[in-house]
Amino acid sequence: MDTYIIPSVRIIYLFTTIALLMAPAALAEGLPDLGDYAQTVLTPLQEQRLGEEAMRDIRTSNDLIDDIEITDYISALGYRLASNSPDNRQLFTFFVLSDPSINAFALPGGFVGIHTGLIQNTRSESELASVMSHEIGHVVQRHMARMMAQQKQDRIPSLAMMAASLLLALGSPQLGQGALISTEAGLVQRSLSFSRENEQEADRVGMQILDKAGFDTRAMPAFFETLLKNERFDGDAPAFLRTHPLSTERITDMRNRAEQSPYRQVPDSIEFSLVRAKLRAIQGTPNDTVRYFEDGLHEKKFSNEVAQRYGLVVALLRAHHLEQAQQELDKVREMTPRHPMLESLQANILIAQNKNQQALGLYSDALKLFPKNRGLIYGNAETLLSLNRSQEALVFLEKGQQEYPDDDHLYVLQSQAYTQQHKNLLRHRAQGEAYYRAYDLPGAIEQMELAVNAGDGDFYQHSIVEARLKQLRQQLEDTKTK
Ligand SMILES: [Zn+2]
Repeated sequence: MDTYIIPSVRIIYLFTTIALLMAPAALAEGLPDLGDYAQTVLTPLQEQRLGEEAMRDIRTSNDLIDDIEITDYISALGYRLASNSPDNRQLFTFFVLSDPSINAFALPGGFVGIHTGLIQNTRSESELASVMSHEIGHVVQRHMARMMAQQKQDRIPSLAMMAASLLLALGSPQLGQGALISTEAGLVQRSLSFSRENEQEADRVGMQILDKAGFDTRAMPAFFETLLKNERFDGDAPAFLRTHPLSTERITDMRNRAEQSPYRQVPDSIEFSLVRAKLRAIQGTPNDTVRYFEDGLHEKKFSNEVAQRYGLVVALLRAHHLEQAQQELDKVREMTPRHPMLESLQANILIAQNKNQQALGLYSDALKLFPKNRGLIYGNAETLLSLNRSQEALVFLEKGQQEYPDDDHLYVLQSQAYTQQHKNLLRHRAQGEAYYRAYDLPGAIEQMELAVNAGDGDFYQHSIVEARLKQLRQQLEDTKTK
């Protein structure tokens, strides 16, 4: 198990700072319910901004998994859980970080990060859902804002420093490096850890979510017990336990609560198994990974044969053994109904063989069956662009943007299509919209400025870009003053 240690100088100092910084603004925006003092510390809008700032750091790090199939799986699971939470006004964004440690964390604003180590070290989908439900529990109970209220600090750091320190505290030290340099000396030494009461509350809410969403509630005490045992046997706590202190008492409580609902066996979804196989298949050297999956198949050491074979095909494709990859994929496709992840893999084998025209046919066929699948949408647009069919790509991307208005990658692809058409204003405008959706407001403004000065575009396009630029500048101003 890969873990890290936060040296005592690496500090989390920010919480009351935020309290001091935010309280007047919160009051100015209207007095909240007196019973809910978390509201007096950080308004949902301020939480959102802090979360977005942290997301900007995450987006620019190498740790964010930008594989849409993996992200979409975790998001679908997360939304399914969140829609069963007691607070359905809270917006959530789920993302995956490439990190072997067992960890998950929630930033202010409902941004929930899941480490690949967690996905790979759970024994069932219900176990993974248990940890995510617990995090959702912290978010909907607004524990972060309450914790901020309890800190004492008289310095006021910038939003960027707060965000970086927060990442450091929550278990992604490599993401918080920026904060270290600027905060070495003179700040409160305080590591971030939820209180026992907060933990119990997150367990209780998490358990309700798990139950309502149809998962096996017994998976929660089972997984937390595994975590606790690992801690005891290795003397090395999983990252998750540093921020979420765990006790046998909590596990007993969870078990008692789980036993109140009738036993149900909940099979893992095929996506859970495929995503885990994919995560394994993109690790290590290609040839070692091929051997890993082949050995597993020979020794029948797998929980799901389709997923095991799928992993082998991904590994073979990485190793560029294309003929064998195709043969193995043919076997998988005979074993199971059509699935968008298998369709995308087939298209990727064709593309690796330079059969882009054929891949395009496959995408449009698969999109008829799975019109909303983003892996297929990206793949279809990218293949159109590879064939210089930019006009078709633009029409197709516009439909995708209607379905997924917050998706930055669709705007990146749109920008590439305009680049092929030598349309500079539109290229920069699309790139600006992509940055905006990646929480990079300064980057978005810079692109809109480039668009204004691009020297092409008609009157109508200029008015749109100028209006948007004005709006984005105003938004940046608001971020600084509020
Ligand atoms: Zn917790």
